[in-house]
Amino acid sequence: MDATELGNELTKVLYTEAELHARLAEMAREIEADYSAENPPLLVGVLKGAVMVMADLARELRFHAQMDWMAVSSYGTGTKSSGVVRILKDLDADLTDRDVLIVEDIIDSGLTLSWLKENLESRGARSVRICTMLRKPEALKVEVDVAYVGFDIPVEFVVGYGLDYAENYRNLRDVAVLAPHVYSE
Ligand code: IMP
Ligand code: MG
Repeated sequence: MDATELGNELTKVLYTEAELHARLAEMAREIEADYSAENPPLLVGVLKGAVMVMADLARELRFHAQMDWMAVSSYGTGTKSSGVVRILKDLDADLTDRDVLIVEDIIDSGLTLSWLKENLESRGARSVRICTMLRKPEALKVEVDVAYVGFDIPVEFVVGYGLDYAENYRNLRDVAVLAPHVYSE
């Protein structure tokens, strides 16, 4: 669905579907330059938010892109993250000597990703890099080394392109700011 379908539930559209795709294409060229067709990274997506980024990034890449998935819960509720992480669904792939590229929708505090990066490194991966569509730089509570960033956004609660509020809005094509009345009701 498009933002126009959601009436007053959104305050503004930050990035349209076309802008997201254009930026992803640029990121794909950077990723292709850093890896090689002989040694492409294993793309690891974090369910459920990263589904849209993964689908578009993987198809944009001009080399083989194997995909694997994890589901984690950051013990947060509503619009805040806590940093305590639990694995709900683990990877199928063995990471020994693999080059891993974590694909994420958004980095907010960075707590989830810094935990995940260490966790994957401890499984014997040769390298673990992070690619995220969105980042809220002012909200970073921990130092996370992010190799590829789509857009830096202000500290506002956003939805769409995989990002949810209470499991809704993931299928919105654009990234938009959620109207505060929706989550304060
Ligand atoms: P972090 O651990 O604070 O970096 O955030 C981890 C997760 O919180 C992200 O993967 C999202 O699932 C969720 N999150 C953070 N900010 C937003 C937002 O603005 N909208 C929707 N989900 C968010
Ligand atoms: Mg997420």
